[in-house]
Amino acid sequence: MADLEIKDLRVSVEDREILKGISLGISKGEVHAVMGPNGSGKSTLSNTLMGHPGYKVEGGEVLFKGKDILQLTPDARSRLGIFLALQYPVVVPGITMNNFLRTALNAHRGYDGKDKSKAVSPKEFRSLVEPHLETLKIEKSFLSRYINEGFSGGEKKRVEILQMAVLKPELAILDETDSGLDIDSIKYVSAAINQLRGPDLGVLIITHYTRILEFIKPDFVHVLVNGSFVLSGGPEVADLLEAKGYSEWVDEPAPAEEVSA
Ligand code: ADP
Ligand code: MG
Repeated sequence: MADLEIKDLRVSVEDREILKGISLGISKGEVHAVMGPNGSGKSTLSNTLMGHPGYKVEGGEVLFKGKDILQLTPDARSRLGIFLALQYPVVVPGITMNNFLRTALNAHRGYDGKDKSKAVSPKEFRSLVEPHLETLKIEKSFLSRYINEGFSGGEKKRVEILQMAVLKPELAILDETDSGLDIDSIKYVSAAINQLRGPDLGVLIITHYTRILEFIKPDFVHVLVNGSFVLSGGPEVADLLEAKGYSEWVDEPAPAEEVSA
């Protein structure tokens, strides 16, 4: 059994069925890409895996490390080792990046404000964060700013990957981390993800475009259209989409490269 097992998952949003019975297994060490046109259900999948309350599971199962996670709250899923980089990162005024990252790390370590031995020390915190700032080209001053407040689109996405680097998940779901990134940012983000890639991490890259897959080579590619997987295979599936787009399945213009800023 794979570390993440999705079996015949059906999900509705506001009484409309969006995911229509999808199955997927992801083991540590593997990178899977889920590609699909807009509105095909990609974010519904990522939000459901993380436990967003707006997405109603109508049927099927999701097991992580053999455990049924569908009843777990998002924070419990996070402590179990699942991480989601949001397609649209939210601004949280009043909470600094520093505070947020340290609190999240402490929560993962079971520090509840009492047993100080479990808390991450300022020195360890710096050693965990600073190397990634360099790879992701994030200025240190960002850590003293409120979460995402005034950050550009690209900065928000890089900060999502910083969170991933610090929390060291076993399963990382990246929901269109590449969208809205200029070419330099795609390179920084890909370099950071490639550094984190390895036998202890499974990755689910969700994307509309094939470009990020030139930098992060997936082991498997699955095409999601209208809530169902219509094609799965190796990296050659991404090449096929690069050439033909989604025109075989939907009325969508042939692939046009995203215009980079
Ligand atoms: P993708 O990420 O592939 O672009 P989504 O999963 O975001 O697609 O959306 C799939 C469908 O579900 C769309 O038709 C979208 O309008 C609908 N949907 C998703 N989330 C919501 C929501 N919170 N409220 C209403 N409709 C939603
Ligand atoms: Mg989406």
